[in-house]
Amino acid sequence: MITKNIALNIKTCLSGLSFSFDELILETKNLFETEGIPGFLKVIISFFIDNMVIEHWKASDEASCCPSPHLNRSGKRSKAIVCSLGNIDFEWTLLKCRNCNQTHNPLKEFFGLEKNQKHSNEFEKICMEAVASESFRRSTMTIKKHNEKVDFNHRSLHRWFMRTESDAITAKYSDLEVVLGDGTGYKKFVSQTKLERENKIKEKTGQKPIERTKRGEVKILMGIKEDKTIVPLGAWTSESWKTVGKMIHKLNNPNKKVAPKKLANVLVADGEIALNNGLGILAHRRQRCLWHIPHELKPLMKYQEKAAEEDIKYSLNQVHSIFQIDIPDKDFGDVSIEEKLEMNEKIKACELQMKLLSEYLEHKGYDKASTYVSNARSSLFTYLRYWMKTGVVTPKVTSKLERLMREIGRRIKKSAFNWSEKGCAKMTRIILKIITDPKSWESFWDQKFKLSGNIKLSFEGIS
Ligand SMILES: [Zn+2]
Repeated sequence: MITKNIALNIKTCLSGLSFSFDELILETKNLFETEGIPGFLKVIISFFIDNMVIEHWKASDEASCCPSPHLNRSGKRSKAIVCSLGNIDFEWTLLKCRNCNQTHNPLKEFFGLEKNQKHSNEFEKICMEAVASESFRRSTMTIKKHNEKVDFNHRSLHRWFMRTESDAITAKYSDLEVVLGDGTGYKKFVSQTKLERENKIKEKTGQKPIERTKRGEVKILMGIKEDKTIVPLGAWTSESWKTVGKMIHKLNNPNKKVAPKKLANVLVADGEIALNNGLGILAHRRQRCLWHIPHELKPLMKYQEKAAEEDIKYSLNQVHSIFQIDIPDKDFGDVSIEEKLEMNEKIKACELQMKLLSEYLEHKGYDKASTYVSNARSSLFTYLRYWMKTGVVTPKVTSKLERLMREIGRRIKKSAFNWSEKGCAKMTRIILKIITDPKSWESFWDQKFKLSGNIKLSFEGIS
């Protein structure tokens, strides 16, 4: 361990040995209010760390620009960085190789700063957590309120958000019990000037003008592991469910020669056909979200088929029977064969009831509702059959996702703001990570901070 006492030069101008205790307090306050902690950090970096790194580079073979580097000091440059302590301006020394003329920036490499990096990683974390819960403008105000020395605007914040890598999610798993999928709408930004420009070209070449809808959909996927912990799998705005399914399948099955593995045992989702077809590749079985069935059937009959009120009432009554079968509230090992057989009978009776309902609806001329019920029938009780086979309880509704969807909706559905496809997907992924998997969110940043425990600072006496 290297312990080094740095003599911090604090200029004390004394005009005679007579000043009051209160004066000293107010003067100290004045120094720290004007210069503050950023001033302290600036001194530490510019006069201590920079020098230490430069000396190390000159003495060792850190530079690999040419076979025999010969380094000379080549002036200083100033650098501005926004961090949680405030906006810091410091100086770093450049070295030039006399042999090959290449310029080196040792302190930049030592700190691992990226090209044009204008803010610290620890500050980026604060920023991303802020924008996950409120708008860019509001986040800017909140952060500034808590960190008085920090100065930046919401446009910078948006730029940092669009460049952050903290939204990355890898959907690589082999131990998932359940995969849950759902989509929600948002107002998409459509550049009118770009659209007009494109349509002008189309007009000239005799093509039909294109229309761009403002309706976007963000697709969200998460998994539940054997130990019931939740993992985020991703969020997309530009890709179809089919593309999403293929992408994740490929990620988990990189080798084509090995028999493909499924990501999860059960897929739980609502009745959206594109979703079910697109994600079918990811799971062995499918469970229709039971909550969605009456909630989708009612508007379908009412608005699309203009069904009579009493027919809707009758159908919903019939559908209600799907909620009547429950997993017994005891250990799987204590469930007798008789109980399982009884449950099997109940399932079959309920499926028959749905078949009869589908036929009734068809007879009444409600073709869409009839198809809806008949499609749902085969995947209503997957969770029960899976439990009877394995003893593992999997969800019969997507409610775990819906809470998350509400949280995401709160942030992306604000009418005043139009999201770009990229921005909306990024924001959704960040919220998804923070809510469902806070541990891996923290560990992403820990890796980024590269904390070594190698530097400790403390106040000592005056030398
Ligand atoms: Zn060189």
